[in-house]
Amino acid sequence: MKLFIVEDDPGIVENLTRFLTGEGFEVASARTASGALEGMSGDVDLVLLDVGLPDGSGFALCPELKRRFGVPVIFLTASGDESSVVTGLELGADDYVAKPFRPRELVSRVRSVLRRTGRASSVIELPGLRVDTERAQVTKNGQEVYLSALEYKLLLVFLNNRGRVLTRGKLLEEIWDAAGDFVNDNTLTVYIKRLRDKIEDDPADPAIILTVRGLGYKVGL
Ligand code: CA
Repeated sequence: MKLFIVEDDPGIVENLTRFLTGEGFEVASARTASGALEGMSGDVDLVLLDVGLPDGSGFALCPELKRRFGVPVIFLTASGDESSVVTGLELGADDYVAKPFRPRELVSRVRSVLRRTGRASSVIELPGLRVDTERAQVTKNGQEVYLSALEYKLLLVFLNNRGRVLTRGKLLEEIWDAAGDFVNDNTLTVYIKRLRDKIEDDPADPAIILTVRGLGYKVGL
């Protein structure tokens, strides 16, 4: 998967390039809007686009990139700038991440947009478990499993962060939008238990959603 970063802050470009390369992405970048139009090619799978560029606005560049390359775009917006977010989404951006962001959060958004836009396979497979994110279908050992919207969202958060420890705070933050109503620490425990009951071979000895004592949870396998 090839990513293109358009950002004039060299520190952000350097850190992101190192991190994304380590995650298996191919990364190219430009620090201006004109540099982006010159450097982009049709094989780019996703663009990370800064809003404030030296020679113009990322907002103006987004429709142009979409028109020329039909590529998904994630805006890197200034923190707390709600109007940026709204404008970005109106201009056809696929998602946005507010600065400063944690690289792992960005990667999770990138993976999710790549799947949603059909650039990456919509199927995630772990031993015994198969999740088709396009059809929102989960199968366990070949049998379809029925999850509530929140259980499903929670499962996707785990799968998008494979190999990493997720604190309870992080999980609450991630499922907040999907919940519709208040999810507190106790209900999170209940949701994780229900999810394990549905997807684990032995919920008492989980192999997929592991507890990391004192820290949170982590996807095994
Ligand atoms: Ca900038």
